[in-house]
Amino acid sequence: MFGIKDLEDAKFLEENGFKDFVIGYKPKLIKVLNNAGYNVHVVLGTFKIIEKFKSVEYLAEDPYGRKHIWFGSGCPNNPEIRKYILDRIREIIANYDVKSIILDGIRFASPGSGLEAFATCFCEHCRRKAEDMGFSYDRMKKAVKYLLHNLYDFRKIKNDLDSYAYTPLSLIDFTEKNLGLVDWIKFREMSIMEFIKEVKNLILSIRPNVRLGAYIFTPSLAVLVGQNYSEIWKYLDFIKPMVYRIGKGVACLNYELAIIAKDLLRWNSWLSEEEILRILYKFFGFSEYQNYPLSVKAMLEEGLPISCIEKEFIMAKKLVFGKTEIHPIVMLHDSSLGDVVQIAYKTGMDGIDFFTFRKELKDNVIKINEVVQ
Ligand SMILES: [Zn+2]
Repeated sequence: MFGIKDLEDAKFLEENGFKDFVIGYKPKLIKVLNNAGYNVHVVLGTFKIIEKFKSVEYLAEDPYGRKHIWFGSGCPNNPEIRKYILDRIREIIANYDVKSIILDGIRFASPGSGLEAFATCFCEHCRRKAEDMGFSYDRMKKAVKYLLHNLYDFRKIKNDLDSYAYTPLSLIDFTEKNLGLVDWIKFREMSIMEFIKEVKNLILSIRPNVRLGAYIFTPSLAVLVGQNYSEIWKYLDFIKPMVYRIGKGVACLNYELAIIAKDLLRWNSWLSEEEILRILYKFFGFSEYQNYPLSVKAMLEEGLPISCIEKEFIMAKKLVFGKTEIHPIVMLHDSSLGDVVQIAYKTGMDGIDFFTFRKELKDNVIKINEVVQ
């Protein structure tokens, strides 16, 4: 369970079968929970722009040179931002009895932070890093600039998507025209992998029995933010895919798709809401499903149907293929929570995590326990 505030919360949850609690870096609460015999897992936002990083050089940069703060974070390749979080991890595992460290925001910007923030990062640190890794920074930057240009005027992409018509030739044609984009996706992935490896090695050098996990994007979106399921397991003891079908923030599947639609509609007044949502469902592999919302408002208020949860769980399982534990995190306030827990059993998840505990959601906790029993 994510986000408990005190011992009273822990006791209530224990009565309902919970012993593992994910909390932020709160020394007092860690000690209280340890003394009571609970398993404590500390979650850390990875590339956060804390007070001392509130300056241009720490922010992510798009190909037009504009700076962005995404999810309260800066450039994932900034060495000072990286050092800050490594120092925190060192401090926690050296001084507190924690079962694991869980990285959050261990990625580049997602579309949910806006498509312009998503089109990052091309700062000086990323230029050097890309070149060290063997990528052509200029080719990547040109390709992402062209992508944004085509999102501002979506006609070309729409025509391509329509005319690609899913033939082998179209795939070759698309790949040939977009090599810089593929590099950009790979560059994001390699940057994230490099940092996870650094964290893992740091832990191994201090307290090897502390496990390392991460809250990662749901499989349908993960590749866009630099998280490749089929690679990431190599340095993680467990992964926690964030499979949120309802929610009002970044990482929630409905919210991410809604923001893509909103940006495209803002820039392309000729597009209809229904048209763009149908294109997005097709692109992200949801077109076979019925009852998906056809307005942005409905998507944000009602979320996506429960069928998307099963699809994402199965995809996570296939991509990781038993090489690391999978404990997806789902919304505790989901009105279909009982069904979600059953889907986790049915699809063979190794555990399930819930976001986020509040006293007014106690009935949902009781419901989980009933389903598990
Ligand atoms: Zn950068």
